[in-house]
Order: sequence, then structure tokens, then C-alpha cells
Amino acid sequence: MSDFNGDVKYIATISQKNNKLDTKVYKLDGSDVVEISAKLIPGKDELYSRSKGLLEVEILSKKHVAIVGLGSFGSQIAIELAKAGVGVFSLFDFDRVELHNIGRHSCTLKDLGRLKTDAIEEAILGKNPYAQVNKYAINIATQKDVFCDVSKNVDLVICATDNNDSRFVIASALHKYQRIGIFGRAITRAAGGDVFRYKPGGPCYGCLIGSRIIDSRDEEVSSEEAGRRSGAIPAYASAEDVNAIVQVGLSVDIEPICNLMLKLALLELSKGMQSGISSLEEDLKYDAYIWANRRDHNFSNWHPFYKSGPKQTILKWYGITIPKDEHCAICSEIPTLDTGLKLNHPMYAEYADIDFHLDDN
Ligand SMILES: [Zn+2]
Repeated sequence: MSDFNGDVKYIATISQKNNKLDTKVYKLDGSDVVEISAKLIPGKDELYSRSKGLLEVEILSKKHVAIVGLGSFGSQIAIELAKAGVGVFSLFDFDRVELHNIGRHSCTLKDLGRLKTDAIEEAILGKNPYAQVNKYAINIATQKDVFCDVSKNVDLVICATDNNDSRFVIASALHKYQRIGIFGRAITRAAGGDVFRYKPGGPCYGCLIGSRIIDSRDEEVSSEEAGRRSGAIPAYASAEDVNAIVQVGLSVDIEPICNLMLKLALLELSKGMQSGISSLEEDLKYDAYIWANRRDHNFSNWHPFYKSGPKQTILKWYGITIPKDEHCAICSEIPTLDTGLKLNHPMYAEYADIDFHLDDN
């Protein structure tokens, strides 16, 4: 190989050593031969040859997705979007990989103790070496300005956090900057899950909560720390109480929820491109979706199972159209976001301590 001037020559050797590819590159500088560091990066055409026709990889490579929360949901979604060819990521999570995460997380034992942002950056680059990854090891509920600054410029936000404080910050920013967002979560004891899609001009996450169509408090508590943060575990809880409250689903219970979040994300990122995935648009037209995972959960309060709704069937998605809430603290005219008003609608009584104010950016 020669450099751009055609002067200095390089020699590359690729061999197999201990079942691994071993790449070495030597620089021939006059009579000197110096080994230099090198990394094999496959061509984009080879990387995405199997996605042709289904996804517009070239266009996706310019799309910027923010992912908030890199737990079992966010980590999987980040890696799948990298596989699909998404090119720019902004990752938000202040946690580190812990032992109790490993069973459901995309990270492995070698990542123990690392910041999730660092571990997932590596996993993304392992799938898409061309990706640009921006990392923010912060809590967006306390550093709203940092999140707002990033969300202004993204094509889509994935909300995969485990608490309403951060969901409302995301919902407020999406409304303010008119960005698309996909929210997803699991319901207590893997009974099911729900996914919500915000499209600019449409009903927002605040409208969803206000509608009472889903019960946002009926939520999976995935760790003692998350339970204490959300208030699901009271300060005086005994060890047995804590164990009874922290009951998570299996990785396979999370899979279908991540899958729908990803389909909706890719559909939104591919809008107007006439790619194969666009054919899903006709079917995936709802604002929100409920996934019923097990029959033994009491779904009776869930729309569309309420009263004479369709007979519930497990392992099925139910699509829901959400009305815009005229009292919505986030998207209605009054109260407006920028006045920093707290929620005063009775629907929001349990969220009264959440401050919705976003600084003007
Ligand atoms: Zn709203």
C-alpha cells in the first residue's frame, strides 16, 4: 500500500491467531520497518448489505437519535438502531453497570462498574464503527438545560427511563422543540407494557397521563434504587418488603416492548423515503399501544379492556388513540410551560411536586 504521495509503503498482514483475526500494519520508512496500530473497519456496503430495500441506510446514517436511560430497554434499542445504520447517538444515563443488571442488559460481565454511556458507546461502535456517539452521564431531571440543548437538534428521542420526572422533562422538551419521541416501559411483574409515540402537534405524554388510559403508577420497579427514587419503596420498608416490591420481568418480557419501540422509531426516521419499512405505516398508526403479557394481571381498568372492550388476549398489542387534553400541563395553551406553573389539574394530583419549567434555550 502507498500513502497519498505514493512515497511511503505500508504492508498489512491478516492472520488467524487463537481463533481471532490478527491484523498488523507495518510502515516502511526508508530502511526502517515500524509496526503501527490499525483497526479493520468493514465498508458500509458490506455492513448493511442485508438491509437493502428495507431501510435507507445512507439516510439513516445522518439521523440523530437521543436515548434517555440505558437500562434493559435503552441498551437494547441503542444497539438495534446501530445495526439499522443510525449514525448519530446522544446517550443519557448516570448509572453504572451493576451485577443485578446483567441478566437483562445488553452489557456483559466485562462491563461491570463502567458507566452505561461508555459501555453502550462501545457496543454501538462494535455494530456501526461509523457512528458518532455523544455521552451525557447526567440525570436529565436535574440537568434539564443539558437535555434541552441536545433535544433541539435531534430527529427522535427514545425515552427508556424508569421514572415520571424524566419522562415529563422529555415530554416538555419534545413539545417545545417539536421533535418526535417514543416512550416505553414495562408494567409491574412483567404483566405487560406500554409504548407511546409523540408526534409534533399530536397528544403528548401529559395528555396520555391525563387521559387515565394507562396507569403510569402501575410500573415495573427494576431495582431497589429505582424503587426508592420513585417512592414505590417507602423509607421504612423491611428487606422482605423491598424484595416483594422489586419484581422485574425477564429479558424475554422486555423484548416485545423494545421491538415495537424500534419499529416505530425506524418508521418515523424513514418517513417519506419509500423504504420497505414504510408499509408498516398503515398498521402502526396509533398514539399508544398496550402489550398484555400475562392473563393473571387485572387488566379490567385498562382501555381498551374497560367495560365492554375487546376480550383480552395475551401476547398481543392493542392500539389506542389518545385525545388531546385541553388541561394538559405540557401542551395546552394554559397553563404554559414557560411560566413554570406546577400542575394544577386534579388529574395530575400525584405529580404535583414535579416542576415542569424548562429554561428558555
Ligand atoms: Zn399534552
